[in-house]
Amino acid sequence: MRTLNSDTSLRIAVQKSGRLTDKTLNLLEGIGMRFDDYKRSMLVKCRNFDVELLLIRDDDIPEYVEDGVCDIGFVGGNVTAEDQVNVTVLKGLDYGVCRLSIAAPKNGSIKKVKDFDGKKIATSYPNLTRSFFEKHEVSVDLITLSGAVEIAPRLEVSDAISDLVSSGNTLKANGLVEIATIYESETELIQTNKPLSEGKKKLIEKILLRIEGYQKAERSRYIMMNAPEEAIPKIRNIIPSLKSPTIVPLADDGMVAIHTVVPIAKFWQVMEQLKEAGASGIVMLPIESMIV
Ligand code: ATP
Ligand code: ZN
Repeated sequence: MRTLNSDTSLRIAVQKSGRLTDKTLNLLEGIGMRFDDYKRSMLVKCRNFDVELLLIRDDDIPEYVEDGVCDIGFVGGNVTAEDQVNVTVLKGLDYGVCRLSIAAPKNGSIKKVKDFDGKKIATSYPNLTRSFFEKHEVSVDLITLSGAVEIAPRLEVSDAISDLVSSGNTLKANGLVEIATIYESETELIQTNKPLSEGKKKLIEKILLRIEGYQKAERSRYIMMNAPEEAIPKIRNIIPSLKSPTIVPLADDGMVAIHTVVPIAKFWQVMEQLKEAGASGIVMLPIESMIV
């Protein structure tokens, strides 16, 4: 096998093509990294950081990080947990959110976990599924498939399945109902437990800080509005701001401009209350990054 570990750049494992690819690359670009041509190459140099990306199948990422071929990697918690690797989870990342669930035919006899006793279950996650049933003291017959698990019951390959679910539409389309959740998953940033140089450790810390800033920014909006001066106390009560709002007098007598940051989850609720309190010309802007 060709050895890839020929220089000292921080090597980051990213899924080559799949559900996590665009979100991970957008995140890396969002924290200021610039790459050329990542669609065509497997190993891509970063233009402005001492970093390179290794684009591979997501199933290979935990092992590559465990072995130190890559220093860090972005991969679903489901894959790392299934592979039972020795790595450090640095951070959950709030995308690629899904769950590993057991599901059975809608009108069949399996309604609860105990009903799986003696049944054949198709899955791509034999380790997580086995330990779930062991914990519940239910004895099952696992059939490991690498894909298309959801059609196994219809093909009479199995009685039920254990598979990743997000919206539940795939299960529904295949006449299956979810019975229980085995594992709640999101994309995680994982780090090797092999020794790292001081330079790489510093760079990883910097990446983590920037990711935190990026995530905070993603969840917040910068809002600007005009209001009569006497409405300021009311408006300050409404805004769940991180810091006190910026208040600037306007040319119009008695009017001010108020600028602040609000969590997006609260935005619409707050927006209505602000209008009622006398605010007008409310503008909302996305924020690129936030270092608090
Ligand atoms: P690869 O070719 O890299 O092995 P894959 O087919 O195994 O790709 P994807 O379907 O792209 O993988 O899924 C990658 C990850 O996305 C999963 O491991 C999981 O963490 C996450 N994910 C989120 N929602 C779902 C879902 N509904 N089904 C499957 N994976 C999901
Ligand atoms: Zn995969």
